[in-house]
Amino acid sequence: MTTAAGFRRASRIAGLEISEIVQISERAAALKAAGKDVVSLSTGEPDFPTPAHVVEAAHAAALAGKTKYTATAGTAELRGAVAADAGVTVAEVIISTGAKQVIANAMLATLEPGDQVVMPAPYWTSYSDIVAMAGGVPVVVPCAMEDGFKLSPAALEAAITPQTRWLMLNAPSNPSGAIYSQAELQALAAVLDRHPQVWVMADEIYEHLNFIPFTRLAVAAPQLRDRLLTVNGASKAWSMTGWRIGWGIAPAPLVKAMGAVQGQVTSGACSIAQAAAVAALTGDNSLIDVRRQALRARRDRVVAALNAVPGIDCPSPDGAFYVFPRITGAMAAKGFDSDAALCTWLLEDHGVAIVPGRAFGLPGHARLSFAYSDADLDAGLGRIAAALGA
Ligand code: PMP
Repeated sequence: MTTAAGFRRASRIAGLEISEIVQISERAAALKAAGKDVVSLSTGEPDFPTPAHVVEAAHAAALAGKTKYTATAGTAELRGAVAADAGVTVAEVIISTGAKQVIANAMLATLEPGDQVVMPAPYWTSYSDIVAMAGGVPVVVPCAMEDGFKLSPAALEAAITPQTRWLMLNAPSNPSGAIYSQAELQALAAVLDRHPQVWVMADEIYEHLNFIPFTRLAVAAPQLRDRLLTVNGASKAWSMTGWRIGWGIAPAPLVKAMGAVQGQVTSGACSIAQAAAVAALTGDNSLIDVRRQALRARRDRVVAALNAVPGIDCPSPDGAFYVFPRITGAMAAKGFDSDAALCTWLLEDHGVAIVPGRAFGLPGHARLSFAYSDADLDAGLGRIAAALGA
């Protein structure tokens, strides 16, 4: 093995670490590989398989020779399907290698050093890292559990400065499951009306995994469309995380700028996966309803089990497939001064992997995914209850 003693990281990524979610998942996998009995409730990935008709469309596309570079911004078929779904023109759509790349493209394409990006916490871990990598400054706005983990218009107003370039809004939220009502979205938009320099990223990748009505920001506040980037993709609703297909819907100049970045990074998303995503978007989606019901039952099971554990206070999420309980009581009872210390102890001593809230910008909580089988959920929850003395 070489050592590359002279290796040095670029300052651009000086503070960049492997995501805490990935670290925990990898540690859990390593413990399992070493023969330890570990249950992981840490990953943001549905356990359902990709629907068969989607896999078949990929097979057919590959056999039909759709195995070459596509246009950088995506195939006409997939851009067209996304445009039809969103009620926009094809020029306002870009296909990328996962929703994550849409977000990275947008930040790389727009941020000047020192530009501020407002993100309500808890936020999806990658937001702050992507912003920092692109030279921006994350401005974290904590949103209390008592407020449903939602950003209030007053908190948004207070966070905006002349340096604010973006607001990142994610609903249904990873990790809290929060969904904003149409009235709540309009109230946030009323604040943004006073700050026309602020662009908005609406990450709606959990759109179809909702247990209460969900409204797209573009629908609730159409006046924002001139400065709105909607992020969505195939990963969650269609269980297609490994296919790496996401899309952005935005004004054409932003789409063009994101395409310029993408053209030098990946050239464009996988041709076969794009054909599969067309089948997902345009096919029979009754399966999503079935899966939503299954997730709802799991949610109820997990919330009930966690609220029976001393020191854990778990609200019931309105969407996505995570719970984000407060765990400060359990931390105090077991003598841990951080959520991360408690989570490490649960993994190393009790064989259950969950992610500390600090990874999402809101310490004192933890995230558990319920996109797992009932057997895994029962095993993991049983270990948490046993560890914390329920
Ligand atoms: N946004 C949110 C809120 C997510 O939870 C995820 C996946 N964990 C993504 C974006 C990225 O999804 P993908 O890159 O798989 O499309």
